[in-house]
Amino acid sequence: MHFDLAIIGYGPVGAAAANIFAAKDFNIIVIEPKKEIWDIPRAVHFDGQVQRIFQSMGIFDQIEKIIDPIMGINFINRSGKNLLSVGFEDHPKLNGYFEGVMFNQPKFEEILRTNALKYNNIQFELGSYVSSLEALDDINNFEVINNSTNEKSNFSSTYLIGSDGADSFVRKSLGIKMHDYNCDQDWVVVDYLVDDRYEILDKSRYQICDYKRPTTLLPITDNHVRWEFKINPDDDVDKLESEENIRNFMSPHMWRINPDIDVNSGKLIRSSKYTFHGLLVDQFREKNSFLIGDAAHQTPPFLGQGLCQGIKDAHNLCWKLAGVRDGNFNKKILDSFNDERKEVNDFMIRTAIKQGDVIGSQDRLKAFFRDMFFMFAKKFPKALSALKFQYSWKFHQGIMDNELYPNEINGVIIPQPDIDIRLDGKQFDQFIGESFALIIFNEKQSLIKDLSAIEAIKFYKNNIYVLDDNHPFMSDGKLASWASLNNVSAVIIRPDKHVYGCCDSEDMLQKVENLTKKLHNDLKI
Ligand SMILES: Cc1cc2nc3c(=O)[nH]c(=O)nc-3n(C[C@H](O)[C@H](O)[C@H](O)COP(=O)(O)OP(=O)(O)OC[C@H]3O[C@@H](n4cnc5c(N)ncnc54)[C@H](O)[C@@H]3O)c2cc1C
Repeated sequence: MHFDLAIIGYGPVGAAAANIFAAKDFNIIVIEPKKEIWDIPRAVHFDGQVQRIFQSMGIFDQIEKIIDPIMGINFINRSGKNLLSVGFEDHPKLNGYFEGVMFNQPKFEEILRTNALKYNNIQFELGSYVSSLEALDDINNFEVINNSTNEKSNFSSTYLIGSDGADSFVRKSLGIKMHDYNCDQDWVVVDYLVDDRYEILDKSRYQICDYKRPTTLLPITDNHVRWEFKINPDDDVDKLESEENIRNFMSPHMWRINPDIDVNSGKLIRSSKYTFHGLLVDQFREKNSFLIGDAAHQTPPFLGQGLCQGIKDAHNLCWKLAGVRDGNFNKKILDSFNDERKEVNDFMIRTAIKQGDVIGSQDRLKAFFRDMFFMFAKKFPKALSALKFQYSWKFHQGIMDNELYPNEINGVIIPQPDIDIRLDGKQFDQFIGESFALIIFNEKQSLIKDLSAIEAIKFYKNNIYVLDDNHPFMSDGKLASWASLNNVSAVIIRPDKHVYGCCDSEDMLQKVENLTKKLHNDLKI
């Protein structure tokens, strides 16, 4: 049997991909050995961009019920003294959402799986695994074995996505190697449920900068708390994950959850030793096969980005693959999936490693200077600009203009006005749709007429907007200040809301025409 697309691996990234691609009418087969969702969470944090992808998938109203915004982060020193507290509540919602939210992973996967069932263009082979793969230029042939019956079936697909996790069979079959950032660190990850008797009084996250035992304490959602403890070379590995040992680790910090809490109360739902890696594939694509999620990249979890970036991989690939399938784009644009995702994931891994070095430093001198810096930043918050809490995940090469009118915003996602602002019942992202859009910041609505006289502009098929100061999407000032700060009068937005290119007001019509011709040339068949 032949499919447009095979998705190998139905973890959270594969499940997100199944939803994203099914909505674009791909005829899909999903293969996954496990029938059930793993009920122990790993990922706990989403960023604003990924919530925006959930909006585009039409599932944000369900996601909203399983998330809690992160209120702030506290850096505490070894003796428990507060070095620095950063509040996130009033951070700008550049994507329309809180930039950091905690979530419950099993409930998240349940939402994805339930939503995927509504698509009758997905065939599920759960309880089966892929045992061989032949990736040819225009077709992938693969064998699938049923776990319980050992029955073998053969399938083919035009495109194939390997979302089969860190030990990816697809990656190995494609002969794709990984770059190792050599940053391995051993930590114990603990999931703890606070007893119903106690309320979690402080929902901030804590980085306990103890050079002898770097520790992270994160209230997640409801009564779930995530702890991470760095393992020392002299720790007794056999006892490390034991309840007694973990409660000893937790005990000096438990009062932060609630001063009345009994340290022996509550339930440990898991304590597992993890070696945090930094690994990135040399290539995200081989012929018509693509890698996404942990199959393509693994990162220390300090930024909470592994899963987020996996979902962004799928989102980046989908509009490109749909355009190629529909004969609208040249197949060569698929190379940009590799270029863009490799750059962003490389930045993500390097930044997570740096972040881990700051909070997990075990060098006494470095830890001393770090603590001094935090105390300085407490008095002079401007120093905090050196410590970023939001990233734009910009790429510098791919489907973007970096020749005609270079601007820092090219390759960055456009801000989304407040999600409560709707026009024709639609939020900004849905209003400008999922094809290339041209947005002009100007008072003159007649510009649309001037533009439509330009032959190249037909490319946008009327997906052109002139936003004046009175436009509803300008009312919260977010787009207006972004445009003014970056000296942008016209901007071309890709289907995934990243900026293709932009220009200032001088000779704007000519510049827009030039940019559009370049874009057309980048995509053309
Ligand atoms: C402690 C910790 C904390 C983390 N915190 C965060 C966080 O806060 N935010 C965040 O974004 N990320 C976080 N991450 C990372 C995140 O958990 C992972 O990036 C994410 O779960 C990877 O999902 P995946 O679907 O790519 O892989 P997996 O979840 O590993 O799924 C792969 C699937 O492929 C299947 N499979 C394997 N082989 C085959 C085969 N031959 N055929 C078919 N199927 C196959 C497997 O059964 C599995 O279900 C964290 C990770 C850890 C360890």
